[in-house]
Amino acid sequence: MRKSGVLLVVSGPSGVGKGTVIERVLARHSEVARSVSCTTRQPRPGEQDGREYRFVSLQEFRRMIAAGELLEYARVHQDLWYGTPRGPVEAALASGTDITLEIDYQGARSVRQLMGGRAALVFIAPPSWEELVRRLQGRSTESEDATARRLDSARKEFKHIGMFEYIVVNDDLDDAVTQLEAILEAERCRLNRTQWRQLQARLPFDKLTVLSNVEAQEED
Ligand code: ADP
Ligand code: 5GP
Repeated sequence: MRKSGVLLVVSGPSGVGKGTVIERVLARHSEVARSVSCTTRQPRPGEQDGREYRFVSLQEFRRMIAAGELLEYARVHQDLWYGTPRGPVEAALASGTDITLEIDYQGARSVRQLMGGRAALVFIAPPSWEELVRRLQGRSTESEDATARRLDSARKEFKHIGMFEYIVVNDDLDDAVTQLEAILEAERCRLNRTQWRQLQARLPFDKLTVLSNVEAQEED
């Protein structure tokens, strides 16, 4: 019955486990697409161009902005640029495919402005600050300086938590995966994403307007 794809926007501080949680959810939902962002940061060992990110020069990033190829973009961690290519997101939504975006709070805000209620905004939070620091340091992917910048960015992320519809605390990984999956399912069931009117022929819908509570009680 569903028609329009879910645009699942996942934000949260670097090191909280966004990538890990999303990867697990996608492993169980091969029908869900994943947006691959462009970034001006250098690849980490093991990262592959086009898989984790598309790694581009600042010049290429600027070209993409000028050409309108990015749905949203932001400067993150002081000096790095990240952006969501527009094409794959638009293609997914047009074909009714669900798609996840792993982007920072600035990107989430832009997507909200552009897409309104079509986007579902999820914030992944750590169980404590100490645990976030432990995970970020434990991942050992950044220099001390780059880790400090990510912790600075984390403080900014927390300040904007109020704009999200959902929060998942990534304490136990299995619980976090279950919760993100539940959010995906809930979003799929939103009335405005479904062709519920097709049910009209098979069910006793005689009114297509949404009644207020008072009107509904009068009707009953
Ligand atoms: P992000 O994508 O948010 O930057 P990652 O997915 O890279 O974060 O995770 C950061 C580190 O935390 C990784 O080493 C990952 O294995 C670890 N991690 C993720 N989730 C959990 C969890 N629930 N408990 C313990 N460690 C976790
Ligand atoms: P890193 O992967 O370098 O540790 O952190 C990347 C940060 O930038 C994360 O907070 C991530 O959510 C954010 N990010 C990744 N891709 C995008 C994007 O396309 N747009 C925006 N606005 N943020 C992004």
